[in-house]
Amino acid sequence: MPRMLITGGAGFIGSHLCNFFIEKGFEVICMDNLLTGSLDNIEHLFGQERFSFIKQDVTNFIHIPGELDFILHFASPASPIDYLDFPIQTLKVGSLGTHKVLGLVKEKKARFLLASTSEVYGDPLVHPQREDYWGNVNPIGPRGVYDEATRLAEAMTLAYQRFHKLDTRIARIFNTFGPRMRRGDGRVVPAFILQALRGEDLTVFGDGLQTRSFCYISDMVEGIYRLLTSEYTGPVNLGNPREMNILDFGKKILQLTGSSSRIVFKPLPEDDPQVRQPDISLAKKVLKWEPTVSLEEGIKLTLEYFQQKLKLKQED
Ligand code: UDP
Repeated sequence: MPRMLITGGAGFIGSHLCNFFIEKGFEVICMDNLLTGSLDNIEHLFGQERFSFIKQDVTNFIHIPGELDFILHFASPASPIDYLDFPIQTLKVGSLGTHKVLGLVKEKKARFLLASTSEVYGDPLVHPQREDYWGNVNPIGPRGVYDEATRLAEAMTLAYQRFHKLDTRIARIFNTFGPRMRRGDGRVVPAFILQALRGEDLTVFGDGLQTRSFCYISDMVEGIYRLLTSEYTGPVNLGNPREMNILDFGKKILQLTGSSSRIVFKPLPEDDPQVRQPDISLAKKVLKWEPTVSLEEGIKLTLEYFQQKLKLKQED
């Protein structure tokens, strides 16, 4: 039975990976310091024999007894509001945390997968973004803590791959959404859905003409699995190439929820990327992967989750 460590396993993407690999028959050790992750995301796994949880900050020395076949490094705050609230922790987990995890990878001779991000492209001057684009990042802006820490994490991963001959993979993850996204983390998908469900104004930042491309979580998890089990060792973009502007996205949420909320405009956060769309030709070629869940279908599934959450809250 393969044995796997997932750092950040109580987070949004991390917890879906825990589920996925438990279902595939793996033994999964989930590590999280619960700074932005939540036990709510993994509590349904606690009864499982092949699942265990360790509450730890990965910037401290990590000791895991026994062998490990795979290590997935998903620990990091991952929303613009979190970078403002936890700038030092964001820098530390991408730099010191990745260093500690790579030390463990070396010790265990495990296969490693780094959760990198489209933020390594910054506010991109090349559109759509391909893996060979080096990006346009402001190192000293509010998002710099995340962008630069992740760029360092990629550099460190490649250094360990070249120097210590580690077996590594890098997923550049674009905007992903679905159940278990955190309420109140400021991300546009939970923000708009909750505003629409509560009949509050939808807060579009700037003129709303900035674009994003949203990938449903089950597609992302499948892409990560294919990358992990492939022999391709360079960075690979994972995301849904369907691009839309945020204003249209807000209108789509209103249409799908049937909400009569209004759209209001708020100031654009600093360094908010103007465009973002993954070029996934590489993933199609080397992983035979592309998203299959439509935006409408994904929103519907996410809506059901948030409706349920709101209902439970009202019953409290
Ligand atoms: N956004 C918005 N209203 C919100 C939250 C976000 O208009 O209430 C915009 C944000 O300015 C950005 C896009 O939606 O242009 C996506 O934001 P998110 O925080 O989800 O992720 P990002 O892609 O910026 O990391």
